[in-house]
Amino acid sequence: MASIGTRGLEAVGGYTIVRREPLERLEGSFIELAHERTGARHIHIECTDDNNAFAVSFPTVPKDSTGVAHILEHVVLAGSRRFPVRDPFFSMTRRSLATFMNALTSSDSTTYPFSTRNAKDYMNLLLVYLDAAFFPLLEEDSFKQEGIRFEFENPAEPSSGLRYKGVVFNEMKGALATPQAAMQRNLGRTLFPGLTYANDSGGDPEHIPDLTWEQLRSFHAAHYHPSNAYFYTYGDQPLDRTLATIEENALAQFERFAIDTSIPNVARFKKPVTSVEAYPATPGDDNSSKAQALVGWVTVPAVDSFQLLAMRVLSEVLLGNPGSPLRKALIDSKIGSALADGSGFHDDYRETVFGAGLKGIAVDDAQKVEAVVLQTLEKLAMDGVDKAQVDAAIHRLEFEKRERSNAGYPYALKVLFTFLGPYQYGGDPYAPLNLDADLEHLEQARREGRFFENLIAAELLENQHRGLLGLEPDPNLEERKRRQELDRLAAIEGTLTDADRARIVADALRLKAAQEAKQDVAVLPSLELADIPMQFEDVSSRQIHIGPATVEFFPLPTNGITYIDIRSDFSVLPQDLKDLLPLFSRVFTQTGAAGQDYVEIAARIAGYTGGVGAAPAVQPLAARDDYLQSFYVSGRALDRNVGPFIDLLTDLTARLDVEPSRLKEVIDESATRLESSIAGLGFQFAVLRATSKLSSEGAINDGLQGIGMLHEVRRLARLDEGELGEVIAKLVAIRTALFRQDSVHIIVTCEESMVDAIAKRLQGLVGALPAGGMNGHVEKPDPLAAAPEARTTPLPVAFNVRGFKTVRYTHPDAPALLVLANYLRDTFLHRELREKGGAYGAMAQASIGSGTFYMASYRDPNVTRTYDTYDRAIAWLIEGEVAVDALKEAILGACGDVDPLESPDIKGRREAGNRLTGFTRQEREKFKGRLLEVTAADLKRVAGKYLARGRYVQATVAGPELVEAALRERPGLFEVVAPV
Ligand SMILES: [Zn+2]
Repeated sequence: MASIGTRGLEAVGGYTIVRREPLERLEGSFIELAHERTGARHIHIECTDDNNAFAVSFPTVPKDSTGVAHILEHVVLAGSRRFPVRDPFFSMTRRSLATFMNALTSSDSTTYPFSTRNAKDYMNLLLVYLDAAFFPLLEEDSFKQEGIRFEFENPAEPSSGLRYKGVVFNEMKGALATPQAAMQRNLGRTLFPGLTYANDSGGDPEHIPDLTWEQLRSFHAAHYHPSNAYFYTYGDQPLDRTLATIEENALAQFERFAIDTSIPNVARFKKPVTSVEAYPATPGDDNSSKAQALVGWVTVPAVDSFQLLAMRVLSEVLLGNPGSPLRKALIDSKIGSALADGSGFHDDYRETVFGAGLKGIAVDDAQKVEAVVLQTLEKLAMDGVDKAQVDAAIHRLEFEKRERSNAGYPYALKVLFTFLGPYQYGGDPYAPLNLDADLEHLEQARREGRFFENLIAAELLENQHRGLLGLEPDPNLEERKRRQELDRLAAIEGTLTDADRARIVADALRLKAAQEAKQDVAVLPSLELADIPMQFEDVSSRQIHIGPATVEFFPLPTNGITYIDIRSDFSVLPQDLKDLLPLFSRVFTQTGAAGQDYVEIAARIAGYTGGVGAAPAVQPLAARDDYLQSFYVSGRALDRNVGPFIDLLTDLTARLDVEPSRLKEVIDESATRLESSIAGLGFQFAVLRATSKLSSEGAINDGLQGIGMLHEVRRLARLDEGELGEVIAKLVAIRTALFRQDSVHIIVTCEESMVDAIAKRLQGLVGALPAGGMNGHVEKPDPLAAAPEARTTPLPVAFNVRGFKTVRYTHPDAPALLVLANYLRDTFLHRELREKGGAYGAMAQASIGSGTFYMASYRDPNVTRTYDTYDRAIAWLIEGEVAVDALKEAILGACGDVDPLESPDIKGRREAGNRLTGFTRQEREKFKGRLLEVTAADLKRVAGKYLARGRYVQATVAGPELVEAALRERPGLFEVVAPV
């Protein structure tokens, strides 16, 4: 049986088909099954997509903040009954062409998903995931490595100071240091007292050390059972074979078991509450307007698909775009400058949450924010909600329903996350996938009148289960936490006997020996090099000219959506204008045009498109040591809206208006958002800063997305409204330079049937642009100063990057460099930085386009040790023996790197870019063929040639304590030390 036939079958193996429904959006079917004996639940999405997905998910409801669910998620993947190797999960990432592999712990569930386009790979991964989830070894050493352990600073030296180590311990130190995390914690604690949401499911580093190995194992026994399992499969693989595999390899060995992971309703407040949470800020900075206030409500239950839809629409109406009434009222109040973290609708709680507030406020202004929120809602409930805003919000849902995008996440998994929450809370999993019935119901309710006004009254204004959630910057928080941890360790150390100390040393050395022991991973299934597809798809296009402008059409089945990208070249802009490109990109969609103000433009974007954006991009050339400086305007719309969509693009490119008070708002909003995101941007900043020292294009990227960009935004934020005249003149100069008839290249991805109509419509756009092309010399900045650099920010972890200059794509050494990056990351760096060092991430990356290579650590508790590890990695590779198996895995990994998952929304633009830069199909196939031929000798040769010459650059972004400690240990490690 190839797949379940068109006529409904009642039973497949031990499963019963509970329900089968059509899924129009996928031209497929929704099939709900139940496993009779164990009670396991299963949803299958049958469709023609060859990117097949699997997931198993368990509701997990921790009762404390030890991170038990999250640490369990890590340890489950560290060896199982049938695959008793140390880290089958990481080993499989190297033996697979998976398009997604991960495990995710949310506040009330743990999910293990993967996807792949290769049928053999699918079965390989399925076996490993099933065995991991249901039969993990849960060894004590894995718990210590991934979760938490005591170790002396120098593991063999009992007098060197007791320390906590562990991967999740450092992962969470980094994760919880952001204002976003502090707001989420505040929200959970304040709005859901006594429920699982009041805990940090990821683990609070203050509480992680309380977790024991026994507690971890009993948490597994209580949650990871088929009777508590939700399975998911998606794609064109035969369902009966998948079900038989699940049954045979997991379910057959279990009996039904009563498990209660339900979450009760929260006891509703009689009156609203207030709470404040601190987040780490930089000492000495001006922190006077870095607080936040969010008004949050617990609203409708997530299981009620109609009410859920109504609240989603309402949230979009209130906050969805710059012209939305609540968002606009908050920004217009000038109490703060950007929406608070946590603003919007959250359906990932059993009872949903709506929040709205401001960041960038003074500590004492929280009440004022609350007053603006409540007054605005009262006014809307009284005067009525704008019908056009509701239409735009519903249009957005329709757009999302149609688009099948693999951007960011594979679509196969986006489908899962659309219904998983409501499904696990006991709701109907089909309703969120097929909104038709609920949308019809909503239209009916709207016709009866005052629907959204009544919803605002019932769920917000009259709902007493409300919190005013404050967030305050605390410049001493990081230091206080660091002291507390050291004091706690000192107290424990004081109670240790000599025997205890000897045991800690022995445990550490035993763990180290286990980490270094050669593993026999032959027990794991693997793809072979022969399984790798060697051909790339030919994406055909046809070009037309409208006057001097080039238009390239990529006719593809897009499910009724048109994608338009307008490419221009910014290379001739002088440096001071290039510095303004990030601001220009924001202004482009957030200001007025053609005599309309930003509210009217925002309404057109929301009403007629699925989104319009603009961004500069540096595009390396395949064959020459050079690059393109491209500016892209990108938008998408339903086919029926193509006319107004192109009219909008015409107004934005030809008739943008920038007016000082709106510009000031846009600048302040982006500055506030950036300042509150720095902790999360540390890695990006460190990588871009390191590569800015290697090449001209690196220097441009630092200015567009890195620390250079941040500094420019800060400079702009210091200007008064009255001083913005010069900035406006420059923004206008950028627009008129970029969008000219001779210099634009329009890329259209759409259904074949739309080509002619769009071509006609684009004549108006081109005709509205000034004639001529861009004049001037191509400007290329020099690389930034090569001196090693450290930048501090209030974080308890570090990001350490070392970069090297290599060669471009078509150079014969490029394939070996890409394999080398995979090899170093998966062998030496993973073991030394993550397993032993406790860093959450260890990376090596060959940017084969731009001719650079870097090694990097992510949420790392170390600095000097990590840089020493980079030295040792190179020596280890050159002097040691290259393992044949690991080389094969590295080649597999490299082949996956050069063949990313496509979807119509990215395909046309990507193909057009490949043609411009010389990454043609022929060149890419040649490159992939050469990856298969890379030998051990090649790895040693390119490591010697490019990494071992001693010419490299370094950048660290870390907490000040870590930087100071590194400098004490090694004076001169960094030449530039400054705050981010
Ligand atoms: Zn984790």
